[in-house]
Amino acid sequence: TTAPQKFEFQAEIAQLLDIVTHSLYTEKEIFVRELVSNASDALEKLRHLQLTEKEIYDDTLTLEINVTTDDKAKTITIQDFGIGMTRQELVENLGTIAHSGSKAFLKALAESEQKNTSLIGQFGVGFYSAFMVAKSVKVYTHSWRKDETGQLWTSEGAGNYSIEESSGERRGAKIVIELKDECSEFSQDWRIKEILERYSAFVSFPINLNGKRVNTVQALWLRNKNEIKDEEYTEFYKFQAHAFDEPRLRLHFSADAPLAINALLFVPKENTEKLGFSRLEPSVALYCRKVMIDAKPKHLLPEWLRFLKGVVDSEDLPLNISRETMQDKALIEKLNKVITKRFLKFLEDEAKNRVDAYNEFYAEFGFFLKEGAAVDFTHKDQLAKLLRFESSLTEKGKTTSLADYVTRMGSEQKEIYYLFGPNRAAIESGPYLEGFKARNLEVLFCYESVDEYVMNSLREFDGKKLTAADHADVKLSDLPKPEGALSEDDTKKLTSWLKDTLGERVAEVKASDRLVDSPALALNADKFMSPHMRRMMKALNK
Ligand code: ADP
Ligand code: MG
Repeated sequence: TTAPQKFEFQAEIAQLLDIVTHSLYTEKEIFVRELVSNASDALEKLRHLQLTEKEIYDDTLTLEINVTTDDKAKTITIQDFGIGMTRQELVENLGTIAHSGSKAFLKALAESEQKNTSLIGQFGVGFYSAFMVAKSVKVYTHSWRKDETGQLWTSEGAGNYSIEESSGERRGAKIVIELKDECSEFSQDWRIKEILERYSAFVSFPINLNGKRVNTVQALWLRNKNEIKDEEYTEFYKFQAHAFDEPRLRLHFSADAPLAINALLFVPKENTEKLGFSRLEPSVALYCRKVMIDAKPKHLLPEWLRFLKGVVDSEDLPLNISRETMQDKALIEKLNKVITKRFLKFLEDEAKNRVDAYNEFYAEFGFFLKEGAAVDFTHKDQLAKLLRFESSLTEKGKTTSLADYVTRMGSEQKEIYYLFGPNRAAIESGPYLEGFKARNLEVLFCYESVDEYVMNSLREFDGKKLTAADHADVKLSDLPKPEGALSEDDTKKLTSWLKDTLGERVAEVKASDRLVDSPALALNADKFMSPHMRRMMKALNK
């Protein structure tokens, strides 16, 4: 064996540790959940490796988590027989900020005005949460790889850590925490029992506390939904999605045909992409009979459903499914179709039965549905039903569906009209709306650039064409001419004078039946170029 080697923490980790060690955050107990969650992840990974790898170190070990407390020595130890870590993995995983939770925490901290430690609870700082309660943390580990040696990682949470070789280690990781004096409660059996029962009831590996089993291993998604409490779902969501919020919506369903599926899907409370965090990764995990196949399968769901969390379990999948073979690809595609359809149906029901909840969901996640409507040809009809817009007939902030718009159409109205604009005030004060308003024709208001792609992709709804109200082809029926209107002759003279004066700058000057109060408006004669697109082209040409 060699002498311990000293390492400096990466600057961000040092900053994070400084906050964590000095935090007065009251819910310090979450460190247990974080470490158990890491242990469970490591076991899941091992279980998956066992399907594909022949050579695994210490292969006869039971896949379980052992927690031991020592109230004399004031320590708590959390050991798993998972994949463990090599020396290099220790440096990468515990010395650099490579994982999402802590990154998001630091970003939020940088952005928030008050340097607020309550953010720890909202984001979770994973492994480093141990330093809220620890004088020192030791990680004894041996990788699943046979040609590796055991390692011991040690830190007191200040700027550095050390790693040395350690003989006689079992596979996996054993984390020994020497508790701060004021945190000695976590070396008490009863205290940890209480915490484990709350957080870890759904961990799919046995957890033993001082030799006694605390959890009943069960896959929540395989249980009968009538027997599951809301809190159980919420805890499962937090655990499985590494989330710190409450789920906004959930769908738990099973199907037998065309594939045997048990799925449990969650919509989070907040859309973090909207908050400015990085693009979400697909994170509905794929399981086969309770064994995790892939935590972040790319093609299990369409891209625009990347905000969903949860689990899909299908007995029909081969355990060693590969992304390469055509047959396996086809299976995933089939799963994708079934689950997407089912989820869209669920949203349709929500929209019908729980209007407020749906509208709140839509305000937060509607962008993803629009993205789907714009790019996903297969599901665009189902998605069109879920879209919501403000309109000339809704109050500010209230929306209508396309279906409801259609019910308000008069018998002579053949098309659905919409207008683009940066906001309601801009559209309402523009000249394009007047002619429609005067004739009681409803116009949908589109504020987002994605709306343009949505309208172009949908083209129609319920057999009615979707038409931009500022398009030159739009014909409005004649209104009675107002008092003192120009004669046809005078109108002709005026328009030809205008054309002469404006010259090349306009294609044509016509008397319009659209205007009520405004003297003139510019119409878009180009079938393929909307004002918004023109603005974009202009910006590009600059
Ligand atoms: P996260 O779990 O979100 O990735 P953590 O801070 O909890 O972040 O853990 C950081 C990384 O350290 C993990 O991604 C994993 O690679 C590694 N790790 C932590 N605990 C264990 C463990 N018990 N066994 C193996 N690897 C672990
Ligand atoms: Mg973790």
